[in-house]
Amino acid sequence: MKKTLLLFVFILVGGWLSAQFKPVPAVSTSTGDNRWVLVIHGGAGGPAKGMMKTEKEKQYTDSLSKALQLGSAILSAGGSSLDAVETVIRFMEDCPLFNAGKGSVLTEEGKAEMDASIMDGKSGLAGAVACVTTVKNPVTAARAVMEKTPHVLLIGKGADDFAKAKGLQIVDPSYFITPERYEAWKKAKQETQPGQPAPSSAVKEPKGTVGCVALDLHGNLASGTSTGGMMMKMSGRAGDSPIIGAGTFADNNSCAVSCTGHGEFFIRNCAAYSVAVQMLYAKKSLKDAADFVIFDILKAKGGEGGLIAVDKDGNIAMPFSSNAMFRGSVSSGSEPEVRIY
Ligand code: ASP
Repeated sequence: MKKTLLLFVFILVGGWLSAQFKPVPAVSTSTGDNRWVLVIHGGAGGPAKGMMKTEKEKQYTDSLSKALQLGSAILSAGGSSLDAVETVIRFMEDCPLFNAGKGSVLTEEGKAEMDASIMDGKSGLAGAVACVTTVKNPVTAARAVMEKTPHVLLIGKGADDFAKAKGLQIVDPSYFITPERYEAWKKAKQETQPGQPAPSSAVKEPKGTVGCVALDLHGNLASGTSTGGMMMKMSGRAGDSPIIGAGTFADNNSCAVSCTGHGEFFIRNCAAYSVAVQMLYAKKSLKDAADFVIFDILKAKGGEGGLIAVDKDGNIAMPFSSNAMFRGSVSSGSEPEVRIY
């Protein structure tokens, strides 16, 4: 009898103790309702409504739709958000319409120097490359930095050499330069006084940085961004796109973010991370946090641009302060939608 009582007390105390010290998971890995979400951007800026030829607008919306299809196929089949983000961005890097990969804008010297990054919200790991000139898909190089090195950011020749050593596709630097970008660069060059910075009209146009954020069926978030940067930038200039926390951020506990716009402002204000931080610590909704960063912080300081974001519950936000932002979204519960203005 005494023994049974002792055993009973032992079980009770043991159960109570294990309930008190149950480890709390560091990241949430399930949304509970098995939802997937994909959001993309093809850059903020560009002409005001009515200024772009309808035919050109159609080219952009068709490409955005194709990008959404590619990502949906992966996510709806149970694939990872990381794979969806990389695949979508690779497609947009290969598309000459966007300012990333082929079609990148050019430096003062007339060269394409590209930046890209990717972040895994589940592990918290990230990878990035800046000022690369030969790797065909900078986002894949960024993912290789994340998965195959102990580092986060590789730049310039070191990054190109690393991509080559890992067997990624390498191309001649001329591959990235399209006739349209070359003409825009020539015009910008003519408008620039020797020894002076390029006029802002030349630097600001055209836009077309690409980005993607996703939530997969397993509850994991990921984000990525890729760009040629800003027209007539100085050689060696890196924008916000390869800077984790500025142009790209993902954390399963809050949200995944990809930014586009005047990079220096986004870097100085840790734009992408600021969205997550406001959700985590100020308990704001994704929409309120994203709007606050784009309008109350960046626009207030003169920094134009936008961002796309998805949170751990599948809510999305796509605020922008520029005339336009090429963008699109689709989810397991909604039809694909693409917009420019
Ligand atoms: N944020 C990019 C950069 O500053 C440019 C852009 O998004 O248009 O390099």
